Order: sequence, then C-alpha cells, then structure tokens
Amino acid sequence: MQKKVVCLMGTGHCGSTLLDLVIGSHSAVFSLGEFHAIYRTMQNLQGDSPRICVVCQGECEFWNKRASLTVLNTYYSRKTKLNALVGKLARYVYNPYQFIFKWSQKPVVVDSSKNPWWFRSQFTPAYARKGIEQYLIYVCRDGRAVVNSYLRKYPEKGVVAITESWKKQVLSMNKFYEQFPSDKKIKVHYEVLAQDPEGTIRAVCDHIGVEFESQMLRYWEHEHHHIFGNAGTNRMIVKFREQQAASAETNKEWMAKHGDFFDNQYYENQGLAIKLDERWKTEFMSENLEIFESIAGELNRPFVVDTTTL
Ligand SMILES: [Zn+2]
Repeated sequence: MQKKVVCLMGTGHCGSTLLDLVIGSHSAVFSLGEFHAIYRTMQNLQGDSPRICVVCQGECEFWNKRASLTVLNTYYSRKTKLNALVGKLARYVYNPYQFIFKWSQKPVVVDSSKNPWWFRSQFTPAYARKGIEQYLIYVCRDGRAVVNSYLRKYPEKGVVAITESWKKQVLSMNKFYEQFPSDKKIKVHYEVLAQDPEGTIRAVCDHIGVEFESQMLRYWEHEHHHIFGNAGTNRMIVKFREQQAASAETNKEWMAKHGDFFDNQYYENQGLAIKLDERWKTEFMSENLEIFESIAGELNRPFVVDTTTL
C-alpha cells in the first residue's frame, strides 16, 4: 500500500485528539499524536526508560522498544545549535516519517501536530518526501467554543487576548489550507464528528483511501502511543484500561450469566463514547460574545454549524 501521512490541523481544543484516536484505531494506521512535541521530549530524555508516550503507564512497548531514540535524537534534539543543524540536514537526506512507517509496520501515519509550520518543515525539501503522499485534514470547531474552553482554563488571559490568538492561528491555517492540493485536503467539523461519528469517519476513510472499519469508533479499546495531545481525551483511555483490569474477573462472571444480552456491555462503555461538548452555549457570557464577535465574528462564520439540524 502507498505510504501516507495524514496531517491534522486545527486550533487548540478543536477535537483533533479525538479524531486522531479514531483514525489511529484503523488496522492500517499508526498515530503519533502531536509529533511536534518530540522536540521538547527529546530535550528532556533521562534515565533508562524515558517517558515519551502519554497513553502507556510506565514502559512503552512502542517508543521504548521498537523505536530508536538515537535516530529521533538526531532529527529532533535542539540541545545545541549544532544538534539543531544536524537535524535539519538529516531531513534533507531522509524523511523522518520513513522511520515511523518502518517501526510501526503500518502504511498510514497520522500526525496531529496541528501547526502548519510544523507540517511545512517536515515535508521540506520536496525530494525528501518522495514516495509519501501527504493528506491534510482541517479540524474546524466553532471559535466561540474554542475561546470559551481556553477562557475556562486560563481566565487570567482574558477574552481579548485569547480571541486575538485564535484569529491569528486561523488566518495562518486558512492560508496553508488554500495552497494545499485540492484532492488531498478536507475539512472536518468537530460538531458534525460528534453528532455523526460514523458518517464523518466514513468520509475521512474515503478521503485517505482506507476502508472504513466500524471498530474504529471504539477507539479506547485499541493500542495507542501518543506523544502528546488533549490530556482529557487521552486520560479516558487510561481510565478505560484501569476499569477493564479491575473488573475483568467480575465481567467474566457477569458475561457468563448474561451472554445473551451482550449489548449491555456496549451501553456500559457509552460513557467513553464521542459526545458533543457545547458548554460554551451556557458558559460564554454575553459581553464576552460581543467582544469575540467584534474581533473575529466574520472569520468564524465558516466554522459555525447548526447542530440542531444534524
Ligand atoms: Zn505507549
């Protein structure tokens, strides 16, 4: 199969970790999480089993065993200016994603670094990406929800600064999206993904040329080795594994008795399923909404989805 890198682009709190986990649950796909954090990670590596993966508790099967930290260090260490230069030159000879294909044994790699500058620099120069098809997914979410989410986390920053920063990110992402080849890019709205996961994931699979697998939607049951990403979404996976381990025995007994009603198990797990988060509608105060509108209202129009008609 053709080697492919799927780049997920979006602002913070846009739902890209969720989409990443679902695509990464496909049998032909390996997901990196936010690969750009590798710079920081390589800087902080210490001891015999340095922590790279945010999903695995303790030693990570993928990053600590299969992947070569020495190779990654060549590409991504920024300890000294010389290290940074060596990394840049290395990219001119061999694309770093080639190692991920080799280590993961999967033909499709997802990178949800979100930043256009990162994707640009990983695929420059053009000849170093020979043999790799690059796809772009622009994960869109209503700016009001994003700004409200930041405001909840960093109230001290204030609505003006957060909205300005959202605007700046969106302008640069729009520019990157416009110049990207039209047959290799799509937009996914978080609100549509949350309301219609199957339909959305089918469209994404079509776009990147892999066959839809219904088990992808139960992303928490699959193996993931993310470098970085939305802590809440990743924590759900950890939580699920802990629950599974704790209740494995009880589940076995229960299933023996209630095997005919196997679906009950499914409903129990719905607590982890994809849900639309629209807290901003009640949390975002009207004066903040007015400020947002005056700074970024126009820019936000294409991001607005009427969720009542979905
Ligand atoms: Zn791991």
